[in-house]
Amino acid sequence: MVNWNAVADQVFLYWQEFLQWFLSVPLYGQVLVVIGAVAVLILAVVVIYYVLKGVAYLIYYILKGVYYLLKAIFLGIYKLFEELYYGITGKPRPVKKEKEPEAVISETKVEEPRIETPHIIKNLVPIQPDAAYCSECGNQFTEQMQQKLHENGNVFCVYCGKGFKSNVIKIEN
Ligand SMILES: [Zn+2]
Repeated sequence: MVNWNAVADQVFLYWQEFLQWFLSVPLYGQVLVVIGAVAVLILAVVVIYYVLKGVAYLIYYILKGVYYLLKAIFLGIYKLFEELYYGITGKPRPVKKEKEPEAVISETKVEEPRIETPHIIKNLVPIQPDAAYCSECGNQFTEQMQQKLHENGNVFCVYCGKGFKSNVIKIEN
């Protein structure tokens, strides 16, 4: 039960007192009071703006967090029921189990040659086409190795695994 008329009268009284004091103050004092009032007003507006902005961000991130939390919970519940379903019925998972091995196979099929080809070329040591001894382990080349070197231009030592490539350029010279 607030008597608004009394409150208004009180405010009006304060305002009149303030006006009387304001008018009694010299001019530079009045200017300072006005500047001060404006500064306080601007400051209040800025503070209110940032407070509102902060509150808005806070609400936004809280909602976002709640959204991800709910999403995670529902996903967890969904997977749990999926596990239960397949566990109880004993049915295989047709979509997941068929797709995964295919993807793995296709990936390895594509990746393996890409990785191994430069690997082999890098490790091949240039060698005379009529070389008879491994420069790595010193063992004599077998007939098969010499034949391979002659036919393919490259060979791997059967003793140490070192790769050799016949130096074609040197023959031509
Ligand atoms: Zn060798």
